[in-house]
Amino acid sequence: MLEPETESRPWSEQLAIDDASYREQLAYLYSRSTFYRSKLNEAGFASPDAAGGLAEIAQLPLTEKAELKATAVPGNPVGAHLCADHAEIVRIYSTSGTTGTPSYIPLTADDLDNWVTGSARSYAASGVSAGERIVSSYNAGPFVAGAALAAFDRIQLCHIPVGTGNTERLVLAIDQLQPEAAVLTPSYAAYLVEWAAERGFDLRGSSVRRVLVAGEPGGGEPAFRAQLEEGWGARVTEAMGIGDIGPSLWGECEQQDGMHLGARGFVHAELIDPETGVALPLEDGASGELVLTHLRHHAAPLLRFRTRDHVVVSTGECHCGRTGPRVRCIGRTDDMLIVRGVNVFPSAIREVVSAFAPRVSGNILVTPATPGAKQDPPLPVAVELAADSVDDPALATAIAERVRAALVVQVRIELVPWGSLQRSEYKSKLVTTTSR
Ligand SMILES: [Zn+2]
Repeated sequence: MLEPETESRPWSEQLAIDDASYREQLAYLYSRSTFYRSKLNEAGFASPDAAGGLAEIAQLPLTEKAELKATAVPGNPVGAHLCADHAEIVRIYSTSGTTGTPSYIPLTADDLDNWVTGSARSYAASGVSAGERIVSSYNAGPFVAGAALAAFDRIQLCHIPVGTGNTERLVLAIDQLQPEAAVLTPSYAAYLVEWAAERGFDLRGSSVRRVLVAGEPGGGEPAFRAQLEEGWGARVTEAMGIGDIGPSLWGECEQQDGMHLGARGFVHAELIDPETGVALPLEDGASGELVLTHLRHHAAPLLRFRTRDHVVVSTGECHCGRTGPRVRCIGRTDDMLIVRGVNVFPSAIREVVSAFAPRVSGNILVTPATPGAKQDPPLPVAVELAADSVDDPALATAIAERVRAALVVQVRIELVPWGSLQRSEYKSKLVTTTSR
């Protein structure tokens, strides 16, 4: 552990510390945040005392990304949740966003330092340690992932950045510089396995013993993870963050049983039902949308921010000694489809399909017939065959039956030739958006 005293602290003690931080954060929001002062007043909480402590947080309103964005004006492009003065801001990241204009994410020096601390704990959980080499394939650019890269310095790794979109350069760096670890998206990790196989590069025999995946869900799906581990000859662990709250807030340890909250003490996690917004207990086996609250943030702190990440929680003891709930992300709430009342994530379908390797490549594409989340069965799914596999109606039937048994969803499987679904050097699309 990078900070054993903090990371193995009994969770009840952590919550007591967090409660004190939260009350201070609330008082700060009331005094400095135009956005939250009016939002909380409108919800009937006229003062920090009325808002209460962490135990009462579920009574406060949720924050949607679009609400923040709506308050951005030419004089204040960040939005009305900006709390810090011009001179206190040391960094401004931005998120890509879907509306065309970016959302700005300012940080004070302390905010940035806390981000790096949390990220460093999350990445160190994977087992990488001081003196080792790690090759990264992120073009962080304007995005908050840049702060996560600073975590490698904090862990005292030798960081070899090679950027996105140049597989030859990445493989050459692995071959020549012999890094012990690589950090990339799960899609790109899968792409590299195919790339190496086609060109006869011995990825399994390379120096890389740990593959750290982040940027999209998937790294925690057992069958998909097994494929990556087989192809890389390495242990695969995942990390997850969210731009508005912080990078790599969560990181998985070598037990591979869900991600620990590396950002403990800086961020409070809750679970809600994504359809009703009602808070759900953070208990073993619970699943729902992750909602996050800053506890010690200063530039533009957020309260009960909806991440749109759908997670499953585990609370059992972890052999690594880290305490607190762990999560595994099963998909974006926005990608969730509802087939005859049953919620289904494209990533869950991929997980079932991946178990049919080596006959399938592991690439799938869900193609909903109508716009919106609600779909009539059967849900059309294109499943890509492996390079040396041939079309076989019996295979399609077997996959459909396994999906129905595992997910209680009726699908229509169309087997497509190897290479016909798009690969990504960054993040994969598992569902077509043209019809949604
Ligand atoms: Zn652990």
